[in-house]
Order: sequence, then C-alpha cells, then structure tokens
Amino acid sequence: MALHKNDDIAAGCLPKERLAANFADMAPPLSAHAAVVEADRCYYCYDAPCVNACPTSIDIPGFIRKIGNGNLVGAARDILSANPLGGMCARVCPTEILCEGACVRNHQDGPIAIGALQRHATDHQMAREAVSGKPLFARAADTGRHVAVVGAGPAGLSCAHTLALNGHRVTIFDAHDKPGGLNEYGIAAYKTVDDFAQREVQWLLSIGGIELRSRYQLGRDVSLTQLREQFDAVFLGIGLGGINALRADGETFAGVLNAVDFIAQLRQSDDLSTLPVGQYVVVIGGGNTAIDAAVQSIKLGARQVTMVYRRGVAQMSATWAERDFARKQGVVLREWARPLRIIGMPHAGSGDAQASAVQFETTRLDAEGRLEGTGEIFCIKADVVLKAIGQTLVSDGIDAQLLTLDGTRIAVDADGATSLPDVWAGGDCTNHQALDLTVQAVQDGKLAAHAIIRQFACTVAKAV
Ligand code: SF4
Repeated sequence: MALHKNDDIAAGCLPKERLAANFADMAPPLSAHAAVVEADRCYYCYDAPCVNACPTSIDIPGFIRKIGNGNLVGAARDILSANPLGGMCARVCPTEILCEGACVRNHQDGPIAIGALQRHATDHQMAREAVSGKPLFARAADTGRHVAVVGAGPAGLSCAHTLALNGHRVTIFDAHDKPGGLNEYGIAAYKTVDDFAQREVQWLLSIGGIELRSRYQLGRDVSLTQLREQFDAVFLGIGLGGINALRADGETFAGVLNAVDFIAQLRQSDDLSTLPVGQYVVVIGGGNTAIDAAVQSIKLGARQVTMVYRRGVAQMSATWAERDFARKQGVVLREWARPLRIIGMPHAGSGDAQASAVQFETTRLDAEGRLEGTGEIFCIKADVVLKAIGQTLVSDGIDAQLLTLDGTRIAVDADGATSLPDVWAGGDCTNHQALDLTVQAVQDGKLAAHAIIRQFACTVAKAV
C-alpha cells in the first residue's frame, strides 16, 4: 500500500543535503592508523570470550593480531573463512550483545571495537580484489554435484559460497529483483551505505560455480518436488515472507503500512526526497525492524515518531544499544500498551479512510505472568502507522506433507537437516534459530553446507 501524499503527509519535506547527512554511514570506517591503535588494545586472550560469543566463531584475537601486524589479507582470510558475509556482519551485528559484549576489556576502558576492525579488514580485501582481480579463496575442482539453494539472503549466500568453495555447483533461486534478502531489503539504509549489500554479493559470486536466478519464486515458478528431482541436494533459506496481522480495527486504512515494506521502499529509493513522509508516525513492535522503521521515519523528516510495545523495554528483542540510539534520534518509546483500533478520517481527496490516530490500552502481567489489559485507554496522533509485529513463513511450494513443520517454521536439527534426506534449511524460516540475526543465518547456511558436503562424501564412499 502506498502512502497518501497530501497536505498532512508532505513529500520530501527535508532538503536533499539534510537527507544525505541523515542517511550517511552511521559508523564510518576506521583509518589505517586508528585500526592499528585499536588492534593494539587487544589482549589476544587464550580461550577468548569474544570468539565464544560469535555465532560464526571467527578467530577474533587472530585477525586482530594480524591487523596490528599490518597483515590485512590474513585478517580478512580469518574472518571470511568463518563468515563469508563478514563484511555485512561487521556493519549490522549487535556486537554489544555478542563479541564486544563479551570482551574482557569491558571491565576496564571499554571493549575492543571488534566490528569496526572486522569491517576494516574485509573492506580492504574487497577493495584489493576489485583492483587486482585476484581472489582470496580458490575454488576446489568441480565435483559434479549440483545443489539448489532457494533464497539469496544471508543463509542462502553463506551456504552457496561454502558449497562452491568445496567444488560443488550451486544454482540460487531468489524471488526478488536483487539478491541479498534482508541485507538488501530489510536493514536500515544508514547501516549499509554505498550499495554494500550488492557489492558483497558480487564478491561472494566471484568465487565461481554459482548461478543466480532472480525473480524465481518457490511455489510459483518451481516447487520443492521439482528441485529434489533435478538437484543432488536442496537448501531452503527462504526467510519469512508473510506479515503478522495487527488484528485491530482500521488496519486497512490508508497510512497503515508494514514496516518491512516501508524499509524496503526506502532502501530501493534513488531519491529519498521524493518519498512520502508521515508527520506523526506510530510504530507498533519492539524488535530491530521497529527500531529501523522508527529511526528512518525521523531521518526522513517526521515530526513525531512513537514506538509502542505491548511489554516492557526489557522484553524487547531490540538491544539496549538500538533502543538508546533510537531515543537519541528522537524516537519516543512507550512500553506496556497494545493497540485497540486505528482511528480514521475521510481523506480530503479520495474520501477513503486515512489513519489519524491509534487508540491503545495499557497492559500489565497478571498473577500468572500473562499479558492483560488494564482498561486504561489513550490515543496517539498518527497519519502513518507502521506495523512491526513479526513475520511468518510462506510455505507455498513446500509439500508440508513431506517436509515437517514445527508450528510455523521448518523443523531442522543442529546441522539444518529437515525431515527429507536431501533437503536442508537455515535462517529465519527454521525453528532452531537461537538468535534472529544475520550472523546466525550465515552460520546456519555454513553448517548446512558442511552437512551436505559430508553427505556427498558418504555417498561417494559407499559407491566406491
Ligand atoms: Fe581481544 Fe577482547 Fe577478544 Fe580478549 S575478549 S581477545 S581483549 S577482543
């Protein structure tokens, strides 16, 4: 649904220069000198807690030591061999609850800037390869095996790169115009500037052996059954394509949007000054999508942005750093309230109902810890309402009679194996996600690729 452009929702209300400043890189790269100085702060801990806190187990002290010694290629190799999307993860990982949160220097003068150092090394390597054409990794000899990967998001790309590196051919089927999944369509623009998501995909594909088929949708253009017939193995990294409904009156009014659609529209815009902007924006939800939508609304020029969550801030999946950042940008966070209905008024031009406010009821926990309304009602003015209350699996093309689902997710084991012997899955679409993070999806894809490789090796051994 497109936003209404009218007197109340002024398009392009900020000048281009201001928008460019608002959406500039939120964490500019380290200079070469600053990187060495920061690397020298590291204790190179034995059994380093930062490594244990990284879902992809990057050898953090190892790559930091190499940066300190000026060996940026070696540092990039350490990072990218454990996490082929190490460049994106350096930008979007909530390091405050992962590696940097575990760093022993938190007890002294603050953690090592691990994310910034990781970005320094991976950016250097990508720039180096762009000039030299000399790849960091050499692909193993072709094995003759061919794997279908569905979804070109972090899980699919990680799986495809790991398989290709080991000599297996891969065809990636992706529903969108551009590869990258959430990295391209679902992350705030100021976290990943200069078309980095696409540059990283090109780097991943440059290893060879990977064919990308865009605008190919499971269930519409191909089915899982067909893929199983045509390929030696299948990996599903299809994410969560459905949107949870608010189930509140007025959800269909103009101005009521899905936060993921709002973020995708913004990410794909060539000119932010032409985007319609809400003046009074209410974001409903408590995760990173809600934060990204709220902060970007402020940066586009919204007058007032309020993020409302049905529980307390401590239960929000957005980290304390994300919440703190949102508050500093001007987002008002309201906790313990749930939406009852969206209040509309006729739009001056079309006569259609246009959102004008959201009515909420405050909430609390009852004696058994269940959420309940208190009966206290309040309203917040809103010409735009952004729903960020979670996404669901779209199971089109999956034969649910064959592939076991766990509730609304694909059931997998620790290696991503599904109930079908030749199908693996990873990322948001699966039921074992401990962390709903890009870096976890990367790890899922990598582990599934290694499991597929092991299965191929067993098959070969049996045949011999
Ligand atoms: Fe370096 Fe901190 Fe990791 Fe220790 S915990 S190795 S100081 S980054």
